[in-house]
Amino acid sequence: MMHFAKGVEGLLYAEVIVDIVVQALDRIFTYSIPEELEESITVGAQVAIPFGKNNRERRGFVMRIKNTPDYEPERIKGITRVLCDSSLVEGQLLQLAYWIREQYGSTLVQALSVVLPIKAKINEKSKVYYSLAVEENDAEKLLAAYESKHYVAKVRLLRALLEDKTLTKNMAVHALHIPYSTINTMYSDGIIKELSTREYRNPTTSKTGILPVHRLNAEQQSITDIFCCDYSNHEYKTYLLYGVTGSGKTEVYLEMLEKVLEEGREAIVLIPEIALTYQTVRRFANRFGDLVTVVHSKLSKGERYDQFERAKKGEVKIMIGPRSALFAPFSNLGLIIIDEEHETSYKSESPPKYHARETAIRRAELANASVVLGSATPSVESFHRAMKGEYKLLSLKKRAAGAVLPTVEVVDMRNELAAGNFKMFSRTLQAAVKERLFKGEQSILFINRRGYASFVSCRKCGFVVKCSHCDVSLKLHGKTRLVCHYCGYEEKIPLKCPECGSGYIRSFGTGTEKVEEQLHMAFPEARVLRMDADTTKQKGGHEKLLAAFANEEADILVGTQMIVKGHDFPKVTLVAALAADMSLYEQNFRSGERTFDLLTQAAGRAGRGDKRGHMIIQCYRPEQYAIAAAARQDYEGFYQEEIAYRKLLRYPPVSHMLAVFMAADNKVQVEKDSESIAEIVKQYIRGMENEQRPECIGPGEASVYRVQDVYRRILYIKYDDYQELVRIKNIIEDYVKCDSFSKRTRVYFDFDPMNIY
Ligand code: ADP
Ligand code: ZN
Ligand code: ZN
Repeated sequence: MMHFAKGVEGLLYAEVIVDIVVQALDRIFTYSIPEELEESITVGAQVAIPFGKNNRERRGFVMRIKNTPDYEPERIKGITRVLCDSSLVEGQLLQLAYWIREQYGSTLVQALSVVLPIKAKINEKSKVYYSLAVEENDAEKLLAAYESKHYVAKVRLLRALLEDKTLTKNMAVHALHIPYSTINTMYSDGIIKELSTREYRNPTTSKTGILPVHRLNAEQQSITDIFCCDYSNHEYKTYLLYGVTGSGKTEVYLEMLEKVLEEGREAIVLIPEIALTYQTVRRFANRFGDLVTVVHSKLSKGERYDQFERAKKGEVKIMIGPRSALFAPFSNLGLIIIDEEHETSYKSESPPKYHARETAIRRAELANASVVLGSATPSVESFHRAMKGEYKLLSLKKRAAGAVLPTVEVVDMRNELAAGNFKMFSRTLQAAVKERLFKGEQSILFINRRGYASFVSCRKCGFVVKCSHCDVSLKLHGKTRLVCHYCGYEEKIPLKCPECGSGYIRSFGTGTEKVEEQLHMAFPEARVLRMDADTTKQKGGHEKLLAAFANEEADILVGTQMIVKGHDFPKVTLVAALAADMSLYEQNFRSGERTFDLLTQAAGRAGRGDKRGHMIIQCYRPEQYAIAAAARQDYEGFYQEEIAYRKLLRYPPVSHMLAVFMAADNKVQVEKDSESIAEIVKQYIRGMENEQRPECIGPGEASVYRVQDVYRRILYIKYDDYQELVRIKNIIEDYVKCDSFSKRTRVYFDFDPMNIY
């Protein structure tokens, strides 16, 4: 007996996650580490373990090593052998998964499957590449001929091939927007040929040095110097690179990457999926060639895995991609760049609802790396942190290539009605469109659809029908019923405006379709393309429409805010937002920020070519601060007002917010369960000794209560200390796991939510 106890005392134990994806085993298992393995087992090591009744051998990941077992040592099984030495990176990624689970709330398996790529069978359906089938000078002649005939897609493809020699099919179709029909014609005409070898595994082009290298201007240089100096001193920080559209942020990223690669380290560049275009990727590939690779959602799981493997083997040094690229298994990661860091797509929409920005900062901490967040309209969160000194602020105030910012004009639609113009287009906008048609330039008209059709306002005075108990607008249900989504208050749509008595009380009906219809009436000669959920339903519909517009097959592109993000159309000199302030009535504390971002980014889309762009903002409340600041293109002015509002109402980033989302297919059940969860939370809060305690709002119905026959309720908890909210989440997690809790209600967490439920 003594002998046994002695042996146990000296043993080490490992907390292991068992690699069974199918099973919902959301816990960690303890195994003992045999003495002879002590040396080789570290956090992140992959080990073979006996598992289950039959002690089948399974793979496990070591999460933590400790010297005390949590239960009787004789019941603890031992690790059989080491499968794979912990590469440092796996250890880091596991720690990251653990952190994500803790900070955002999810099961371990969910967190792991976010962080570790799924090993899917790589489908060796070989990839297709294009290259020229004719001599270069013949291609040049063809190019001239195509240009004179305005074969715009052919011109684009030929130009790309002349410059880059090869192009993946993926890039040609999805990034350059070349229609299949064009590719097929050029193929059957013998101008291009297909390559399909496996040597071209890398989805980017391998040609470097084609694009001009710019001499950095003074602003760019000083920022680069600050970064490089810190980096040389091993000071790894988080930077906020705040630079107006076109100020040359990408050029600065390239220099930073150069520095990091020089130090023998690796880098990840996050770019929102929607902005991940051929032009963007090409700038990185042009500088770093084969060292760059790209992942995006159009890659199959196998292809993505393939790219991750290349990163692990050190074949590539820079991984570009959307949110998921953050988990590229670089073992010597030195920098994470997040471009357009304000984009809401950086937050995951399914559990764990992690934010790529915070997760990047955590990953960088684990790896001793730096983080650079870049934007022309930084998130209020990031700018706030920069103001507090948590991030180092670097600014670019001028456009790099000497181009001027577009002019912005605000039109008050109330004046239009007063002047007898009942159309959706102001007189200013009509004149501007007419001018573009005359000059053969293109225009983009978009409606800001968030919160569009659903609320009701007076078109004469701008009055919005609001709930008499809450500070939110009422939403139109059916044709006449107005309902408050917060408290359930309900009234009939008024026949006359309660403010001014006018009969023009309307909801903003059918959106893009209506815009298109009215455009046809106003400009019968104009060729109009409409892009929305209806017109892009079929696969590839999105690309086709964008390609058609890029090919100048239309004069005007109409759509939702989607169309102004991430696309560059050099012939566009006019961008107009119709009813720009609609989104402000959305019941979301972020609506001012979204509106400002959208309008500012949209303005940046106008006049990207050599002509100066113009933007028109049509709205009913030009004095509202988000609109007024957008018109001035004044980020800092906007920020000051916005942060004051967040402070006043204790919204993130000043305070933090945890949304507990509860859903069940039984209404009574979800009501009962949400009440009991709220009670647990309130009880905990009552027991707190702090002077200021978390504020608990709800539980109440989610704004869309029933979705597909599932009832949804929501509880909000607000508090200054994020970690206290994590503790509350843990309490709820424990509670819903216990036997007394009905398992019919599912519970999800969302920290500092992007949308209000
Ligand atoms: P951002 O990423 O801030 O929108 P970009 O890096 O795309 O800006 O730069 C905008 C344009 O200015 C690009 O066409 C780029 O080639 C050009 N540019 C950037 N830096 C310089 C520079 N130092 N000199 C000349 N042109 C530059
Ligand atoms: Zn009115
Ligand atoms: Zn209400």
